[in-house]
Amino acid sequence: SPTFSDRIERIPPSGIRDVFEAAGDDAIDMGIGQPDFPTPDHAREAAVEAIRAGRADSYTQNRGLESLREAIVAKHERDQGVPVDVDDVIATAGGSEGLHLALEAHVGAGDEVIVPDPGFVSYAALAKLAGADPVPVELRDDLTLDPAAVEAAITEDTAAFIINSPANPTGAVAPREDVAAFARIAREHDVLCISDEVYEYTVFDGEHHSPMEFDAGGNLVVVHSVSKLYSMTGWRLGWVTATSERIDRMLRVHQYVQACASAPSQFAAEAALTGDQSVVDEMTTTFERRRDVLLEGLAEIGIECPAPRGAFYAMPKVPEGFVDECVDRGLIIVPGDAFGEGGAGHARISYATDEATIRDALDVMADAYDAVT
Ligand code: PLP
Repeated sequence: SPTFSDRIERIPPSGIRDVFEAAGDDAIDMGIGQPDFPTPDHAREAAVEAIRAGRADSYTQNRGLESLREAIVAKHERDQGVPVDVDDVIATAGGSEGLHLALEAHVGAGDEVIVPDPGFVSYAALAKLAGADPVPVELRDDLTLDPAAVEAAITEDTAAFIINSPANPTGAVAPREDVAAFARIAREHDVLCISDEVYEYTVFDGEHHSPMEFDAGGNLVVVHSVSKLYSMTGWRLGWVTATSERIDRMLRVHQYVQACASAPSQFAAEAALTGDQSVVDEMTTTFERRRDVLLEGLAEIGIECPAPRGAFYAMPKVPEGFVDECVDRGLIIVPGDAFGEGGAGHARISYATDEATIRDALDVMADAYDAVT
């Protein structure tokens, strides 16, 4: 029989897929984690033009096209007001590869990686794949990650902690003082802060803050992606930025596993970052309206839910059996414990779908709620 690495045997398949398979083809889908908008035309066109002109046929630099990295630098200047050296950026195959590079380059056997619980499924899995042990930290009642809880979880084995704002699966947005505290913790305890900011542009209440704006003492890797910023999940294009020393180590991993990010996608991402940004406001306004429809509907049913301030997920507490009942009735939502034990008793509802669908889903949820309570 085949043998497999100890590392891979520690990783379960993602629990999110199960509900899609259970629900059938004509189910109402509130499980999906991607915006239901098209990629902006100018991004698509940039890729097509590059392909037609034969500019996308070859490897790019390992770090990515210089013009793309310049666009990324300009983005951080614009949004964070922080200068980034064009060589301190690696274009990656989405935020997913960015997380992989950050963990693979910095943690290993015997190390602990603090992760939010519930949190995005890749954090614990990629920490384990790198040989380290994920250490889950419970969220506050409003589903934000408490810097004091992270600080309390630090041991002499802690190599890194991961933060994510706006957050999947909760929709929580970290307030400025918490982001400042995370930077301070990274600096004072000399542990790496991996900041996953892929939902940066989807904030309704308050504003996005990055530890880049504060002094993390160089102990910071920012993971980013055009997937959710510009509705480009299929293009598989993201980036990491960090100190030169950290970029050098991550580049070694990237060189061997990826060589470079997909060239056509690099052209598309550059155009998205430098082109008309009105699509961002349009998406955010739409998501906010849908959030309000969902929250109002949940309240009418009697389901309590901390108001999500960003991303496109809500994570209410739900009665026992509720998720299964919804799935049986043809509505896909994801059980909270797919995101860690801390998610037990909750459901993740994605509202990256049109209002009519949300209203249909609310009808199903109302019936499911009656059936289980
Ligand atoms: N980080 C978070 C919090 C996510 O929700 C996702 C995707 O769902 C990713 C990272 C990875 O996104 P991508 O690899 O498409 O950039």
